[in-house]
Amino acid sequence: MVITDCIFCKIVSEEISSYKVYEDSKFLAFLDINPVNNGHTLVIPKKHYENFLDLPREFMGDYMSICQKICDAIIKGLNADGFNILNSSKRAAGQLVDHVHMHIIPRFKNDGLKHWPQHTYKDKEAVEVAVKIKSFL
Ligand code: 5GP
Ligand code: ZN
Repeated sequence: MVITDCIFCKIVSEEISSYKVYEDSKFLAFLDINPVNNGHTLVIPKKHYENFLDLPREFMGDYMSICQKICDAIIKGLNADGFNILNSSKRAAGQLVDHVHMHIIPRFKNDGLKHWPQHTYKDKEAVEVAVKIKSFL
């Protein structure tokens, strides 16, 4: 399905230009227009799916394999020291473009980026939280 006002569908159809780094019949990888670090790449299925939960399970193997290939190329091609893979699904998580995408962010020693803040669980909280998640698995 092509969503007429989806920016990433327009990138797939080349109505909007992008710096492509990888393309095959099912996936496209291109540079994020506002990179966290140079080489920040977005990997998308060409077909429009809104978020991570909408992806068919049989898609995941190929999708992750392409992401891994791009991570490897980022390490080798940009001499990166590491990378982060990130997907934001839904507004609360910061998803702004509703066409599923994996961010692959090259990381460099001393690049100054900080991860998000963390905290410790209160008494019994971890057990309760784990039970809630497990009940749907
Ligand atoms: P989200 O917040 O949805 O996870 O990330 C969307 C990403 O898409 C942002 O990092 C943003 O910079 C990128 N982006 C938005 N519009 C365009 C565009 O037209 N071209 C490219 N290459 N990236 C875009
Ligand atoms: Zn789309």
